[in-house]
Amino acid sequence: MENKIYIFGHKNPDTDSIGSSMVKEILDRKKGTNNVEAKRLGNINKETQYVLDYLNLQAPELLEKVEEGQEVCLVDHNEFNQSVEGIEKAKILSVTDHHRIANFETSEPLYYTAKPYGCTSTILFEEFKNNGIEIEKTEAVLMASCIISDTLLLKSPTTTEHDKKALAELEKIAGIDVNKYGLEMLKAGTDLDDFSAEELVNLDAKSLDKNGSKFVIAQVNTVSIEDVLKRQEELETAINKEIETKNLDLFVFAITDILNSNSEVIALGKRVDAVEKGFDKKLEDNKMFLEGVVSRKKQLLPVIDKNI
Ligand code: MG
Ligand code: MG
Ligand code: MG
Repeated sequence: MENKIYIFGHKNPDTDSIGSSMVKEILDRKKGTNNVEAKRLGNINKETQYVLDYLNLQAPELLEKVEEGQEVCLVDHNEFNQSVEGIEKAKILSVTDHHRIANFETSEPLYYTAKPYGCTSTILFEEFKNNGIEIEKTEAVLMASCIISDTLLLKSPTTTEHDKKALAELEKIAGIDVNKYGLEMLKAGTDLDDFSAEELVNLDAKSLDKNGSKFVIAQVNTVSIEDVLKRQEELETAINKEIETKNLDLFVFAITDILNSNSEVIALGKRVDAVEKGFDKKLEDNKMFLEGVVSRKKQLLPVIDKNI
């Protein structure tokens, strides 16, 4: 049996991590590499489930860890602490990503595509185009969904002209009305009711390191910040538990209003000063309202990272 090459996105996978893994598998097969298989590093969230249901597709299989020498392709991440267990000893064939590069090292040469676009799928879209490979409906819906998710329907400041152009073309191939489909999809992801507080703070959490400081920025999307804040007390208990068990210096939990493009953040830990200094604002009752802030990557992480 031929050895499989695994393709996967980050832990606590979002729509781009799942969708882009699946799209890269399709693209690689169309290019003639058949021993590729999309995997996932965690549970499928409700937004992504909406996409899979729309296409009547199964989620990729869960990958718990990789053995030494396993051939892998990373999408939508590069930092090892966001990747699979055993990544240090895997053979990374390629990275396709739109994040900062940090905590990443290989012993062998690799393909590395990094573009400061709003979404990994936009990079893949351009790979289809540049290779003259046909985009069919399935991958069009997947890529459109990833772009809608990562850019919050092109409203996030991470959005580039490349994302807009890709989404306009994918909309036609997918045969969807992007605004209607996109809002339904995003709304599906804001249904947080049946998650425990522990699940909520881990749903879309990213671990980060800076000069020996360990911090997490987690994010949930909502159509009502107020609704989520009703659970502030239990959320804080869950966050404090994370801080204690993972020995974190800071935990930032961003509750993002996808309709009005604002966020309320709850910040706990001994380095909350990094948040206060970064945004030049005091936390009140452990929280702070950030007008116009929706992007972890562009608006939260750099500010906190600089001040921690
Ligand atoms: Mg992602
Ligand atoms: Mg992404
Ligand atoms: Mg995201």
